[in-house]
Amino acid sequence: MATTTAETRTAVADVRLDRVTKRFDDVVAVDGVTVEIPRGSFFALLGPSGCGKTTTLRMIGGFEEPDDGVIYLGDQPVTGLPPYKRDVNTVFQSYALFPHLTIFENVAFGLRRRNVARNQVAGRVQEILRLVDLAGTEQRKPRQLSGGMQQRVALARALVNNPQVLLLDEPLGALDLKLRKQMQLELKRIQHDMGITFVHVTHDQEEAMTMADVIAVMNRGRIQQLGPPDQLYERPRTSFVARFLGASNLLKGTVEDRDTIRLRSSALVRVGDELPQPGTAVAAGVRPEKLRLDEDGANRLSGTVKELSYVGVATQYVVETPDGLLTVYVQNTEPGFRSIEPGTPVHVAFPPESTFVVELTEEEEPA
Ligand code: ATP
Repeated sequence: MATTTAETRTAVADVRLDRVTKRFDDVVAVDGVTVEIPRGSFFALLGPSGCGKTTTLRMIGGFEEPDDGVIYLGDQPVTGLPPYKRDVNTVFQSYALFPHLTIFENVAFGLRRRNVARNQVAGRVQEILRLVDLAGTEQRKPRQLSGGMQQRVALARALVNNPQVLLLDEPLGALDLKLRKQMQLELKRIQHDMGITFVHVTHDQEEAMTMADVIAVMNRGRIQQLGPPDQLYERPRTSFVARFLGASNLLKGTVEDRDTIRLRSSALVRVGDELPQPGTAVAAGVRPEKLRLDEDGANRLSGTVKELSYVGVATQYVVETPDGLLTVYVQNTEPGFRSIEPGTPVHVAFPPESTFVVELTEEEEPA
């Protein structure tokens, strides 16, 4: 019985957008987006600058109103409700802490504003500061803390209100790489511990993949693809998603039959995905780490090593083939380092199961 309740709960949408559109003059920032964000999930809106992810987040938070469509929090449409009447808190990239207040008072601020009983404030603030690993900093001022610590105070200040949904607008953008990586894991732990729905906006694919259960990849105001990180990486449905989530090789050609693509060089490549009608312009995609040099495989292309760069865990090769340049990552798992020098002829092999297929739109298809 308990399991059924838990299952039912996770299936409930905490935030729902129904054909939401937002225009700024002649720019369509968000273009008819429909999406459900399940309760308790860590959901990332990922996309390049200007794709509409911040506007989407701001509409959920109540900082912008849609021109068309409806946003629901739980079962309730929230059209026209100001931010402070929504059970949502936002953490921005700039921490916006009160510089003259102590950390304790910064975090307690929201509780006091909501008239939480005085005797409960201290306990609640301390509990949240422990959660974000800042116990002991209560009496300090923001400027006495590092950037990462200040960001965690901002997070504590949003979490202390126990919102149904937490919105995160590039909250780690101002931190250096090492701190950012550490905070990514901490944010995930906090989300897991509290069970609150997190909606996180980022343009950093690695960050989205590290933290999110579900990622929506946005481009030009629309969600191009939505799914768990592994599905988006292994089976991107468009060349935009393939390129945005990590490096990929796209071998252009046309559908030959049920499971074969004829490349422009006329070489044949077998794929694991279902293919559209014969004659359709498509690309077979393969991630660089799934290609093998000088091994047997159902698919084999000839080429010549053009460049190599040693990056420690792997060596990255660029191989020139009649179907374009291929990037190949060879893991350096053996003792020592043995490279294949530029100019060496090689075969690049890969199994059909390692491929994905994307249809090519006209703009992507060179003459
Ligand atoms: P970034 O990562 O750069 O913040 P984004 O994906 O979050 O980008 P948005 O900020 O949502 O994108 O912007 C989407 C589009 O809407 C852009 O073309 C932007 O210039 C435009 N836009 C956003 N806010 C406004 C505004 N207040 N007034 C006019 N145009 C806006």
